[in-house]
Order: sequence, then C-alpha cells, then structure tokens
Amino acid sequence: MPIATTNPATGQVLKTYDPMSDEQIDAAIERSDLAFRELHRTTVAQRARWMNAAADLLDAERDDTARLMTTEMGKTYAAAKAEVTKCATACRFYAANAERMLADELADAGAVKAKRAFVRYQPLGPVLAVMPWNFPLWQVIRFAAPALMAGNTGLLKHASNVPQTALYLEDVLRRAGFPEGAFTTLLVGSDAVDRILSDPRVRAATLTGSEGAGRSIAQIAGRELKKTVLELGGSDPFVVMPSADLDRAAEVATTARCQNNGQSCIAAKRFIVHTDVFDAFADKFAANMAALKVGDPMDESTDVGPLASEHGRGEVDAQVRDAIDQGATVLCGGEQPAGDGWYYPPTVVTDLTPQMRMWSEEVFGPVAGLYRVASYEEAIEVANGTKFGLGSNAWTTDPAEQERFATDLDAGNVFLNGMTTSFPELPFGGVRNSGYGRELSAVGMREFCNTKTVWIG
Ligand code: NDP
Repeated sequence: MPIATTNPATGQVLKTYDPMSDEQIDAAIERSDLAFRELHRTTVAQRARWMNAAADLLDAERDDTARLMTTEMGKTYAAAKAEVTKCATACRFYAANAERMLADELADAGAVKAKRAFVRYQPLGPVLAVMPWNFPLWQVIRFAAPALMAGNTGLLKHASNVPQTALYLEDVLRRAGFPEGAFTTLLVGSDAVDRILSDPRVRAATLTGSEGAGRSIAQIAGRELKKTVLELGGSDPFVVMPSADLDRAAEVATTARCQNNGQSCIAAKRFIVHTDVFDAFADKFAANMAALKVGDPMDESTDVGPLASEHGRGEVDAQVRDAIDQGATVLCGGEQPAGDGWYYPPTVVTDLTPQMRMWSEEVFGPVAGLYRVASYEEAIEVANGTKFGLGSNAWTTDPAEQERFATDLDAGNVFLNGMTTSFPELPFGGVRNSGYGRELSAVGMREFCNTKTVWIG
C-alpha cells in the first residue's frame, strides 16, 4: 500500500510519503532504545505531567485534528471530534491512576517464607505498535498512554492511509514534553515489520487489525520469542430477547452497527432476535437504518460517511451480493451508489444461511445481518457460531437471563442492554480468532511490564 492521504469522500490523493529507508528505521530504533533508558528512570509523577500536557494539547487542537482524521479516513467530523476528546480523557485517566497501577504489591511473607516479598511492575523497553486506520487516534492512544506511563517507549507503524494522523501523534507527545525518541512514528509499509520486530532492541509488539496481519506478527514474534497483544476482527452478536425494550434496542442497534461508518471491530454485526419479537424489532431496526443520512462526512448533519477505501467498499458489496444471489432478503439498502466517494448505504439483510459469506465473515461496513431464533439456547448457538469472540451484546430485562448471557457468550466482553464500548477503566480484548491479551485498565498497562517477583529472606 502506498503511504498516502486519499480523501474517501472524493477519491482524491492529497499527499504521498516515501517510506523510511532501512538506515532511518535503524536510527529510529536506536533513539527509542536510548529514550527508554532515560524514560524508565523518570518518576511516574513526571510522566503524568507530560501525559496531562498531551491531554491539554489534544483538547486545544481538537477541531483541526478531527478535520485531519475525517479527511484521511472518512469518519464523520462529529465522530472525529468525540474521538479526540476520548483520547484526552484516557491520557488523564492513566496520568491519574498509573502510580496506583504500578505500585508494588505485597505478598503474604509468612506463606512464602520471606522477611518481605512483593511484585514489582517494570517496563520492558521499546514496543512496536502496528495500528489500523479506523480510529486513527484512539487505537494508538489506548496503547501509548499506558505504555508510556509504565516507562516503555513506543514505535508506531500506523496504517498506510493515515500518515498525517500518525505524524501528529508523534508531534503531540513530543510537544507535551516526552523526551525525543519516547514515541516515534515510522512511516513504513507492512513489509518493514519483520525487520523492526526482529531487532533485539524492540522488546514486544501490539497489533490491532485483521486476522492475517495478526498471524504474521505472531509468527515473527514466535520466532523471536517476543510478547504480543493482538486485537483482531470481530462479528459481534446483538441478541434481542422477548423482555427487551424493543424501541431502545432498535435505536442502539442502529448506532452500534453504523458508528464509524460501520467500520468498528466491536460494532454489532449480527442481530439475533427471538421469534416472539422478531417482526416488531425488524420493522423498527430497518426503519431506523433507512432513515440515516449518508453523505459528506464534514457536514454536521451526516450520520454515515464513506468507507475508508475503495477496496473495503468492494468487499462489503461483494458480501452483500453473495447473500442476495443465494436467496437472502434485503430489508433496506444493498445497492452501491454511483458517483464520487466510497459510500455504501445502511443495509439490513435477513434469511441468511451458513453457506453465505455474511454468516461467518466479518462485514466491515454499515451492513447488518438479521437472524430469527426460537429459544435462548438457539440464540447462544448462533451468537457463538463464528470463529470470532471480541464483543457481544444481549438485550433482556430478566435478571436470570442476564446472568446466563454473561457466562455463556464466548467473547472478551459482554454488554447487557447497552452498546459495546471501550472504557479506559475496563479491559478490552477478545478470545479465539479475535486475538489475545488485553488493552486498557491496569490489565492492559501490565501487558507490557515485567511482573517481577521480589523475595527477601
Ligand atoms: P490490516 O490488518 O490490513 O491493517 C492494520 C495494520 O496492520 C496496518 O498498519 C497495516 O499496514 C498492518 N498490516 C497489514 N498486513 C500486515 C502484515 N502482514 N504484517 C504486518 N503488518 C500488517 O486491516 P485492514 O485495514 O484490512 O482492516 C480491516 C480488517 O482489520 C477487518 O477485518 C477488521 O476487523 C480488522 N480491524 C480490527 C480492528 C480492531 O480494533 N480489532 C480495527 C481495524 C481493523 P498497511 O496499512 O501498511 O497495510
């Protein structure tokens, strides 16, 4: 992929970049390694001052940054502004809580026959972050804020279609006060990842992206014996049971499917509805989806902007066509519009069968699959019936059923009567082919720490 800014609303290439040379990559890794030696000796309080300064800069520069993101990947300007604010909040959260999360944890000295024993959390060193374009600021900050607060340094290989946002991230952390080399953007293609991760100075990697990219990173890391965290795709279920508030469920379902123009790993993608309320839910949901305004992402009244790439839109359309050709029913949308920009309408497809691509694949666009089920057991079977296990949603006001969903949904998170979201306070990640490891909260911060046992006799 060329490293370039191409506006998805017009298809126009606005700016291109040459990838860094091997020498430039080596020099950046060297700077990162040197910065690590300095950073991990600074106090948490000092790092917190820099992190709070980064939050202040993000807030102050919100509108320009949001405009840049919208231009590079097509999310609505309103959503982009909310993303910048969320990043500032996460920076402040880690600035305020890192001291507590990194504090020594005393063990029961008697039980381990010591005068004193404790666990100490220490940083690992330079960590490579391979990141996607869909939340171009948030995906990076949710790695960088905890990693830098722990005293690690970061090397960012961002998606090739968001180079200006990638450069902004390095710039904003530098201006906040972090030392030169503490956080570095590498303008490189994915072919450079092997070289970077094989370098002995790079100690670990995190990737958010597709299954294929995850397998590739895991293979390299396996060969090099390095720790990885992988956040991969998802095809989250959204189960609606008879006791649910249908109006609210249909409203949240619409947002959950179409947020970020349908390009979120934790978007609800498969809507699994009990037969007693199926028709009522389907009517409300399809009406809500059809009412969304598709158009220029800079227009404040737009609900759904273009998809980020022509290739991405082609994939979504091919998945929908495949379902239609095999007998699926389209309740709304389903036709790729003519004209400039990579737009795709909010679409609801039902009468799906296991032979169709949509049944088992992730659809990365504003397209919902609607499934009718006759019981709780069948709902769980369909919900857990893909290779993914990232997020999940269920709607029921029955407390006993809520308990069962919390246990039975095979996913990294379960949201009941609400939309799957990531919060700095809660761990985020998946199981099965959605990846492993966790981001956010203290759990995410400690993924890139040496959990060191200290025993004093
Ligand atoms: P990719 O996996 O292609 O891209 C994500 C990042 O990985 C980019 O920086 C990309 O670089 C890099 N990359 C791609 N291939 C390799 C490789 N073989 N080795 C090392 N790095 C690689 O994701 P897409 O852009 O195709 O996004 C769509 C898919 O990604 C969907 O399945 C979606 O679920 C998943 N995804 C998941 C997200 C999540 O939060 N879990 C977020 C976004 C996407 P480059 O741009 O240079 O190719």
